[in-house]
Amino acid sequence: MATVLCVLYPDPTDGHPPTYARDSIPEIARYPGGETTPSPRGIDFVPGQLVGSVSGGLGLRPYLEKAGHRFVVTSDKEGPDSEFERLLPEADVVISQPFWPAYLDADRLAKARRLRLAVTAGVGSDHVDLGAAIERGITVAEVTYSNSLSVAEHAVMQILALVRDYLPAHDIVRAGGWNIADAVKRSYDIEGMEVGVVAAGRIGRAVLERLKPFGVRLAYFDKHRLPADVEKELGTTYHDDVRALTAAVDVLSIHAPLQPETYRLFDDELIGTMRRGSYIVNTARAAIVDRDAVVRALESGRLAGYAGDVWYPQPPPADHPWRSMPHEAMTPHMSGSSLSAQARYAAGTREILEAFFDGTPIREEYLIAAGGALVGAGAHAYTAAAGQASPGSTGR
Ligand code: NAD
Repeated sequence: MATVLCVLYPDPTDGHPPTYARDSIPEIARYPGGETTPSPRGIDFVPGQLVGSVSGGLGLRPYLEKAGHRFVVTSDKEGPDSEFERLLPEADVVISQPFWPAYLDADRLAKARRLRLAVTAGVGSDHVDLGAAIERGITVAEVTYSNSLSVAEHAVMQILALVRDYLPAHDIVRAGGWNIADAVKRSYDIEGMEVGVVAAGRIGRAVLERLKPFGVRLAYFDKHRLPADVEKELGTTYHDDVRALTAAVDVLSIHAPLQPETYRLFDDELIGTMRRGSYIVNTARAAIVDRDAVVRALESGRLAGYAGDVWYPQPPPADHPWRSMPHEAMTPHMSGSSLSAQARYAAGTREILEAFFDGTPIREEYLIAAGGALVGAGAHAYTAAAGQASPGSTGR
């Protein structure tokens, strides 16, 4: 019998939804490129219903309990007295989500003496100290691609919301007003602008693809260059250095993993090299930017807008400056947790658990670290080495 400790965000404030806005979600069998969406032996939830919060338990309870395992789901994750930290020494498997991360820094991993598998129900395992996990031979897996396109849609929405100044215009209507000049005085068309992405992996490339029909000029930086035919089809310019990209665009969307090279990359100096009136959208990880540098750049006008859905720590305190800074279009960390995405990452988590308990290989593309090294998707996206601390794992 194994103990599976699962940390999920709290239920809706008015309880688990008795009904839903839609009766079903589209069935998607493959991602672009051909990889199949998660295919566990079975699922015990209805796709399109809320499984990502505590009472939904990712739909895993019937499967795990029938197999004789102990399944504990909690949202209580902060500090030594939290249920998460109290149960950590008993856990064989930890499941966490980036939206409500159960930070697994080196100290917590040292307490997790039985831990063999840390699953990210989603994409992005920076809340786990990958260097310490490598040292301890813990397998880290995530549901690669499960919500990448969900995030790409959100990033495109936030780019348009900022450039067109959608939210202030909407607020005018809600307040009973009708001053068109107020609504348009910061509103532009994106057409003709130069739009860049930092990292053109699954999300960044999908953002480029989705923006192409808007008649923008596209550019990107990534440590792995896209194939020449893809660059040509997108009409995108490659910059081999982040500084060259930031200086050349009006809109920048960030899609790199959080790791030592990207930690606080966007500081006063780098943001200062951007054109006056640039926009940044960050749906990757908040700690890739310097929190207060963003506020200063919005106040000075260097940035005309900042949006995203990632914060640090998560959840952020009520007085976090990004809640009240000017020209923001922030959301809570929800882009990768739409009901559509939940169906995929819940099924993918089940697929990973089935492989783990059956003793069969976990899909290579789901693996971040295993056997004391970065492997699979992790070897492509991350750089952690044994013992090297991951900056996102402490939650600070
Ligand atoms: P991916 O692995 O497909 O792409 C990551 C890309 O980053 C790769 O192309 C890699 O070469 C590039 N990269 C790595 N280090 C880099 C560096 N130092 N500089 C430039 N490029 C670098 O992953 P993805 O599905 O595109 O997701 C990207 C990130 O988005 C995740 O790591 C995660 O942090 C974030 N994410 C956020 C949400 C959300 O809900 N907001 C959901 C999913 C993923």
